[in-house]
Amino acid sequence: MSFRASVLTLFPDMFPGPLGLSLAGRALEKGLWSLDVRNIRDWATDRHRTVDDHPAGGGAGMVLKPDVLAAAIDAAPQLGPRLLMSPRGTPLTQKLVRELAAGPGLLIVCGRFEGVDERVIEARQLSEVSVGDYVLSGGEPAALVLLDAIIRLLPGVMGQEASGLEESFEGGLLEQPHYTKPNCWEGIEIPEILLSGDHRAIARWKRERREELTRTRRPDLWQSYKAGKI
Ligand code: SAH
Repeated sequence: MSFRASVLTLFPDMFPGPLGLSLAGRALEKGLWSLDVRNIRDWATDRHRTVDDHPAGGGAGMVLKPDVLAAAIDAAPQLGPRLLMSPRGTPLTQKLVRELAAGPGLLIVCGRFEGVDERVIEARQLSEVSVGDYVLSGGEPAALVLLDAIIRLLPGVMGQEASGLEESFEGGLLEQPHYTKPNCWEGIEIPEILLSGDHRAIARWKRERREELTRTRRPDLWQSYKAGKI
């Protein structure tokens, strides 16, 4: 069975959004993954369809109510892990993306306002995942990022499976620079070695560029790469 993504949001119109186009969009049409989007508001029970309330103890903003959110979660298909997009979460990495892509699917909860009531996170065992150290106005763009990264790894989605394995973060390194024709552009030549046809020399050149880029741009990645190598 193909990968199944369920998304709980207050803005269902944001989906599939960019995932309905290009690689992910074609894969969706082909049935290589499926998307189930639910409006959290549909589980509100009062006349005004209230989904949020003031934070206990005071403070700015509003908080998503636990009863409404839990009802939405309980009604959703239970496939794979339940994630909550959150700036406090585990940073999203290619490793985590691979793990999720290998599973049957997932449920993604998109927060809004100041966030969600802490009790739902515990009671429904939501794993918090962050897309970076900055604050978005809602979890939807983060969910789109996560799904995009997962979908391209699903079987049959990328034409050339190999292109997934040589990329940034795979093997712990950033990717080397790329070049294409014309060989001379604005007076700048493509590195000669890439045109040499010497595959071993090219492989060595690529590795050296990857290591150099990682060392200078991402000392944090470089440290873990070296640690793993020894
Ligand atoms: N008050 C919260 C931020 C709320 S932002 C705090 O300071 O931690 C509103 C919602 O946007 C969050 O509930 C979350 O679902 C989403 N969001 C914001 N930044 C995010 C990030 N970096 N990664 C993933 N989700 C994020």
